[in-house]
Amino acid sequence: MQQPKLFADIVFRGGDVVTLDPKNPYVKNGAVAVSGNRIAWIGKAVDLHAHVAGGRQLDISGHVLIPGLVDSHTHLFQSLGKTLGDGMSLLPWLAKFMMPLSANITRDEAVAAVRMATLSSLLGGATTLVDNHYAPVDEGTILAVAEAMEEVGVRGVVARGIYGPMVEGGRRMNCDPRLFRYTAQEELDITRACIAARPTGSRVEVWPMPLNVVYLDPELMIACHDLAMETGTSWQAHCSESMFEVEIFESIHGKRPARWLHDAGILNDRITLAHAIWFDEEEIALLGAAGATAIHNPVCNQYLASGILPLGPLMRAGVNVTLGTDGTACTGMNMFEAMKAAHILQRLRELQPDATSSEMILALATRNGGRMLRRNLGVLAEGTLADLTVVDLRGIHHQPALRPVCCLTLSTMGSDVRHVMVEGEIVVENGRSTRVDQDKVVADCLQASRSLIRRAGIDGLVIDWIESASA
Ligand SMILES: [Zn+2]
Repeated sequence: MQQPKLFADIVFRGGDVVTLDPKNPYVKNGAVAVSGNRIAWIGKAVDLHAHVAGGRQLDISGHVLIPGLVDSHTHLFQSLGKTLGDGMSLLPWLAKFMMPLSANITRDEAVAAVRMATLSSLLGGATTLVDNHYAPVDEGTILAVAEAMEEVGVRGVVARGIYGPMVEGGRRMNCDPRLFRYTAQEELDITRACIAARPTGSRVEVWPMPLNVVYLDPELMIACHDLAMETGTSWQAHCSESMFEVEIFESIHGKRPARWLHDAGILNDRITLAHAIWFDEEEIALLGAAGATAIHNPVCNQYLASGILPLGPLMRAGVNVTLGTDGTACTGMNMFEAMKAAHILQRLRELQPDATSSEMILALATRNGGRMLRRNLGVLAEGTLADLTVVDLRGIHHQPALRPVCCLTLSTMGSDVRHVMVEGEIVVENGRSTRVDQDKVVADCLQASRSLIRRAGIDGLVIDWIESASA
């Protein structure tokens, strides 16, 4: 007897499909059928009609369909100061640029920036964003940020930036005391209320993010972990981004950051550490044994000359490594750029051209992101969430496109993204948002940027040309 046909809502057909499913990783001349918010069928385009009926058909000949990219760590509001502070290393960059900007930003300015940066990210093929929002961090702003992300159409997380009381590490890093405005208890209460409003499983959910292992009160770090366990979320922190931070931490606590996390009993598979660069061998082993996630932010790390995440050692130890853009002030929101940067930077780090492959780099940006989020995404298979990106490989910069997977990690630009689907809904079609007025989103962000830079007193950083002394 013939199998009954599936009824689809939307069908993509004609292009190649990169699934990231080890059982069926690449389908040449494939088709993908979507029903509701799930992938219903994947196979060869010639077999489609034998299995699937109905649905709006999109011809994607000459394109490659991939799982939606997961940007595991970014700061959407930072787009208000994009490129300012260029040439500074992390500590002055924070003290002279980012912290004054953060201490002065209003809710409306933050939301305008989040809307624009989310749109930029989505147009560039990312379907999930983990946004570490750390200014301002009142309950109303955190929920407004989540609302703005959802309105533009992504899936994601607002990782609420938590400061608590000023401690020795913060003083040594010259942190702006105006940002340390809440007590530890107030920080926890606000975060708990935000998680209650947007619990795990929401299209955009909230996580605790004690900002940095170096400048947070250790008791508050532990309480953030406890809050994540209690509410069933994951949590995120910046950790070991620069060598100086590790030196400061070690001189205060007598041990290195990951060792401290382990000894405090809060290193497990719910922790997600942004940067994760300056770990020693013992720390890498501890992270691997815990099943922790380390987030590689290769473009930002090069921009601030912070260092290079030890990808090979972390992966061999069993750490789940994902990929992020980190910081729209540094790098823009381009996950294809992040993939290429990780790809070739890691080869240089190991002086080995086989240190990475395109398949492995794509997994960091998709499958590993799904594992970090504990969601059924990042892999295209029957039953997974229908979050996907369609990339046009017909541009001259891809030709002759002999190995499409390599084109994705080496020659694709964000502007090659043709369609993006999140939760079974097409949110970008033919390179344009289906949900928001793009011109207005950009204009609102420009206006917010101008007034904030003036008010924060950082207009001195807006310079047309800096003559280099060493040129
Ligand atoms: Zn960051």
